[in-house]
Amino acid sequence: MIIDLSLRKKILLSFLSLIIVSSIMTISAVLLATNNSVAEQAREKLVVGQKVFEQLLALRGNQLFESAEVLTSDFGFKAAVLDQDRSTIGSVLDNHGARIGADLMMIASLEGDLIASTGKSQNFPFKHLLSEAEENGGLMQTVVLDGLPYQILMLPVLAPVTSAWTAVGFQIDDKLARQLKELTTLEVSFSGWDSNERRFELSTLDEQTNAAMRVYETQGDWLHMTYQGESFLALVTSLVKADNYQVNAVLSTSLSLAIAKFSPLKIHILIIASVALLLSAFIAFIIARNITRPVNTLVSAAERISQGDYKGEIDFDLFKKNEIGKLANSLSHMQRGIADREDKILYQVFHDTLTSLANRASIQEKIETLLEQSDGDSDIFALMQVNVRHFKQVNTTFGYHIGDQLLISIAKRLSSLMGEDDSAARLGADEFLLLLKADTEPEVSARANRILEAIIEPYQINELKLPIAFTSGVVLYPQHGQRTDELMRRVDIALNEANEQKLALLLYQPGSDEKHLKQTRLVNDLKEAIDQDSLCMFYQPKLELKQGKVTQVEALIRWIHPELGFISPEEFIGLAEQSGLMPPLTRWVIASVLREAAAWRTQGIDLKMAVNLSAYDLANDDLPDYVAQELEKNGLSTSSLILEVTESAMIDNPVQALKVLNQLRDQGIILAIDDYGTGYSSLNQLKDLPVDELKIDMAFVLKLDESKYDQAIVQSTIDMAHQLGLTVVAEGVENRASWALLETWGCDKLQGYYISRPQNSADFVTWFKGYDVNSEY
Ligand code: C2E
Ligand code: CA
Ligand code: CA
Repeated sequence: MIIDLSLRKKILLSFLSLIIVSSIMTISAVLLATNNSVAEQAREKLVVGQKVFEQLLALRGNQLFESAEVLTSDFGFKAAVLDQDRSTIGSVLDNHGARIGADLMMIASLEGDLIASTGKSQNFPFKHLLSEAEENGGLMQTVVLDGLPYQILMLPVLAPVTSAWTAVGFQIDDKLARQLKELTTLEVSFSGWDSNERRFELSTLDEQTNAAMRVYETQGDWLHMTYQGESFLALVTSLVKADNYQVNAVLSTSLSLAIAKFSPLKIHILIIASVALLLSAFIAFIIARNITRPVNTLVSAAERISQGDYKGEIDFDLFKKNEIGKLANSLSHMQRGIADREDKILYQVFHDTLTSLANRASIQEKIETLLEQSDGDSDIFALMQVNVRHFKQVNTTFGYHIGDQLLISIAKRLSSLMGEDDSAARLGADEFLLLLKADTEPEVSARANRILEAIIEPYQINELKLPIAFTSGVVLYPQHGQRTDELMRRVDIALNEANEQKLALLLYQPGSDEKHLKQTRLVNDLKEAIDQDSLCMFYQPKLELKQGKVTQVEALIRWIHPELGFISPEEFIGLAEQSGLMPPLTRWVIASVLREAAAWRTQGIDLKMAVNLSAYDLANDDLPDYVAQELEKNGLSTSSLILEVTESAMIDNPVQALKVLNQLRDQGIILAIDDYGTGYSSLNQLKDLPVDELKIDMAFVLKLDESKYDQAIVQSTIDMAHQLGLTVVAEGVENRASWALLETWGCDKLQGYYISRPQNSADFVTWFKGYDVNSEY
């Protein structure tokens, strides 16, 4: 089981258990040591006590010996013994015995018959000891007589040979026991039995305790006994152990009493341990708090940081220079790091990294706030969008580093031109947007012009001095828009128009936006129309004059917009070119025209099909393959297709355009120059083009019958084209007179409303079948 304790409780608990365990161990060790030492002391005391006891007995033995010596060496006594004078002997014994305090005095014959005695006994009770006494010249022993223990000494009466035996003895009694107790502070007990199995007991202990001890007595020298909760240690000494009697001395001491002496000490230890425990608990509490308080502070700091508040300060006074202090320090560093990074990110969100100007998001927000605060007409401001012209060239010519430097310099100059309430932002690569506060419209335009003047001053980048041109568009609030997106879009439109018209500054023209919006919409719709096949082709014949019949048709695209109705190809072709839709559109045209041609073949109509190309169709290499593939798919020969190209299609990238045209020509496709006469090229340049046909632009043909000037141009063009080996088509033939003139000048083909307007396939087929050049002409 894992208990989820706080760090503080855990520390506290660990400390306390450690202290409790160590206290218990100490106390137990002390108790054990005291008990052991008490037992040891008791043991020593008993051993010493035993020695004292032995000495005491020896002392008494000496006493006995001296008095017996005195007695047995007394001449009168000896003579009395020799004379068997019983009454003298008796009185000597009495006197002597009383003098030395002996409890027993006897004299016996060599055979062991009692001669005299201080007691009442009629026999000599130590007859059995005589032989041993004879052997040793005397004897000292403990005996039991009439149920009482005695220490006796037997000595021979020498006169001069052994003529009798005397026995002198002290009783072993309470007095001896008490004496011994006084000397040793031990409890003393004597016990035993005589030959008649009469027991005797005498002891300094109370009767019950003494009786209890008897039970263990036979177990050995040392005995350990507990009686009524009190424990004793005893040492047993056998004074005599004869066949039919026995005397034991038992020295004992109370262990409980000895241990009890240590009770105050134990209480002291307990008190000390308890105090130590309390003290340690208190210290543990302080330590735990000292550890956990900074940790808790850090925990709450970390929680605060995790909630995204990086600004709060961490109170360092709480922390020492230990690990927690280091942790706090790192946390604080981390917090500062995050805060810095957040500031940086925030800065990057609203600033351009290269120039440090505001970025699009930031200036949009500023405009938004201005609009919110605006109280209608009184607040006016202008947005001026500035574009660096030919910035790409700076990059490609001098490198990106110089390009970047230039942008930074422009940004600096723009910033320096901003008033207190103005702002400058960088919108994209080379585009800047200025928010200009002004009171009147003329003031705005004056400021805009001043800014332009200032920024066209050449820029010094390293050793380079760069003259830079700018284009700019301006919108005014509130005249030109009410919303941020509207103003931003319209200033962009103004800039684009300035660009197209190659102006340095253009004020937004009301309505431009709508035009722009319509164009965007048309582009989208056109894309859809291509995908959904909702465009269609019209066909206009080219009449071959010499043969007097139609041999070719020009395919012209038509788009009827579902809502806007007819849209002129000139309008939407231009949009398609600008929006990258030209390649798919041309593919669609080629595919549907060739399909139509194949269909006409089945009806016996064999006409060459002329399709218009744009400059964008020549910009990549895949057109020739596509054309070949479509011709083959429809089973048509390459000469069935004429491709019309204007001279302007070759201006942007003449090398690439020529490459594609040559490839087409090599495939056998007929190429025609369209709208000839409007472009810049001269007839001289024509000779290098891989073309077969030249179409004179309508502009010279429409009023041919009226304009002598047009007549001169057309006639000479026809002549020169012929000299270059080109066939000539006149477009825009609208009347009989023009036809006649062209015919006289030898023009090869005619195209125009006078012959036929462009018509859809079915109408054209009907027209074609019914057409008779002679009836028309
Ligand atoms: P364009 O190639 O010069 O085509 C001739 C234009 O003159 C056609 O205008 C035609 O209808 C018109 N036209 C012909 N005869 C007369 C006449 O007697 N009097 C007058 N006033 N006009 C005459 P449309 O069809 O409006 O096409 C305009 C231009 O759009 C074309 O000029 C061509 O440049 C472009 N275009 C048309 N269809 C396509 C196409 O499928 N692909 C490409 N790339 N351009 C196309
Ligand atoms: Ca054409
Ligand atoms: Ca034309």
